[in-house]
Amino acid sequence: MTSFLRRSPLRILVFCACVSIAGTGQNKQIKSAAPLLPTKVVVDATHAPEKILHSRLQIPVSPGEIKLVYPKWIPGEHGPTGPIVDLTGVQFFANGQRLTWRRDLVEMYMFHLTIPQGVKTLEARLDLVMPAPPEGFSSGASATAQLDVVSWNQLVLYEPGPKTDDIPFSASLELPDGWHYGTALPVSSESNGQIDFQTVSLTELVDSPVLAGKHFRRIPLTPEGPIQHFIDIAADSDAALQMPQETIDEYKRLIAETGALYGARHYRDYHFLLTLSDHVAHFGLEHHESSDDRVGERTMIDDDERWLAAGLLPHEMTHSWNGKYRRPQGLATPDYQQPMEGDLLWVYEGLTQYLGEILTARSGLWTRQQFLDEAAETAAALDHTPGRSWRPLQDTADAAQILYGAPPEFESWRRSVDFYPEGFLIWLDVDTNIRQKTNGQKSMNDFCHLFHGGQNTPPTVKPYTFDEIVNTLNQVVPNDWRKFLRDRLDTYGPRAPLGGFTNGGWKVVYDENPSELTKTMEKTRHAVDARFSIGLVLDDKGGIRDAIMNSVAWNAGVAPGMELVAVNGRKFTPDILREALKASKGNGPNLELLVLNGDFYKTVTLNYHDGEKYAHLVRDESKPDILSEIIKPLTRTR
Ligand SMILES: [Zn+2]
Repeated sequence: MTSFLRRSPLRILVFCACVSIAGTGQNKQIKSAAPLLPTKVVVDATHAPEKILHSRLQIPVSPGEIKLVYPKWIPGEHGPTGPIVDLTGVQFFANGQRLTWRRDLVEMYMFHLTIPQGVKTLEARLDLVMPAPPEGFSSGASATAQLDVVSWNQLVLYEPGPKTDDIPFSASLELPDGWHYGTALPVSSESNGQIDFQTVSLTELVDSPVLAGKHFRRIPLTPEGPIQHFIDIAADSDAALQMPQETIDEYKRLIAETGALYGARHYRDYHFLLTLSDHVAHFGLEHHESSDDRVGERTMIDDDERWLAAGLLPHEMTHSWNGKYRRPQGLATPDYQQPMEGDLLWVYEGLTQYLGEILTARSGLWTRQQFLDEAAETAAALDHTPGRSWRPLQDTADAAQILYGAPPEFESWRRSVDFYPEGFLIWLDVDTNIRQKTNGQKSMNDFCHLFHGGQNTPPTVKPYTFDEIVNTLNQVVPNDWRKFLRDRLDTYGPRAPLGGFTNGGWKVVYDENPSELTKTMEKTRHAVDARFSIGLVLDDKGGIRDAIMNSVAWNAGVAPGMELVAVNGRKFTPDILREALKASKGNGPNLELLVLNGDFYKTVTLNYHDGEKYAHLVRDESKPDILSEIIKPLTRTR
């Protein structure tokens, strides 16, 4: 999973809400004695523009007391994020008679009811209301007047007990007139505006959302086959669908590069389900055979927005291997009610962050300089995170389910879901170490072949443990990888692990010139980045999104949530602050900031004379340039 606009108050990172579907392939051999009859679900999405979906289920049941549950722990979101509060209109019928029900007093996602004698099928009617704001993950805003993303987990109930791999569902969907759709879910027939899908397991159903809309475009990426890849786009306008041909070609290269990196695919076909709207939540959520990728309406036709979002699809697609096919034991739960354990998210998300960014560069979606700017930003942000002195990286993974929802204020002290960006640093460190130890003969590419490759298969899940990560690394090149990783996961050290840059022939430096990435993020996110100088991130109106603890500004009494009103006696604007920072350099005057804290003003003086500071990566010419080697395409030279 990836969440745009989170990660550092400035950043536009895409965290995947990448938890994966519950099913665990290891259990597929253990069949229940008698296969269950399919539950039928018909979803009426014709009122999606009014933010309500109607679902009608026919659930095979036996007489007596039963429980029904609503999916709670959503794959890829790594938390209990099923939108139970939006489940409304719940009614049950047996042989046409209304049945009473009672919610469990402890488990809000569970309903109790009694099935009368002789009844074999329970009818359930549900409504999903969608008043959600455009933030969060799949429970955030998903529908506009022009489009909708149907997430099946939000529209079903099931009897707990069997693995969701073993619960068959036959789904149908009705869409507004004139809407088109994309999905990885196999279709059995279509007529009179209703799509009937093939009977699949509940696991596969929930793993296969449907993107539908009035303004729709399907872009085939590998028409030559045999495994097909598509970008299915629904947007709030036809104009937004006009992805440049150059970008389409880069996505074609992405498919080729994933084949070269992993050596096998674990899906039948793959669909990027790309939503372009300013009125839905912006994030990416991975699935085995598709990804739910949601960005702003003009992302594909605006050069800056397209660049800033370029890492999203490579990240989500990488999860098909790293997260879906190979899944940490604690995230490979048998159903949607059992809590997930996120301790290996630094592999699930962290390695995906690393591989996703490498693939973004290898496919040409980023230039080499854009990759370097991104890496410098990651390094500098984590190196200015004092919260690492109390919260080791491991705890950001262990506590993922609470950190995803944390506000940006005090992020430098709280830490965020840092297993994404710091995972990038750790896996870069691993990759450069492997390349050094083997004189460039081996790399993380070999790890991926061993760990994620093998034979082409349809979707399946191979759970893993920490030990298997260590053992596979040892197959690539023997080393004390357990200590290597634990040293980086469990440390309370004040500095970020930057060994990957040192090994790779680069170093992080700071100067007065913002990178193109920083300038573009400031412009598009309406932010001012003074993190590495006085320790502040502000919006362009002066709102202080974060003040880095122990920075110059923090030590003078500036805190998150305050507003910067004036700089050296003049009303704040981003340019006024930048010019004051320049003027204060060396023998210049102290900075005088007027800040508003609630109803109260105060003036603070910053005895700061180092000017503006922005992060860059520069070459260390005394060492080979391994970093550039890492991002070279595997398939061909561009
Ligand atoms: Zn992810």
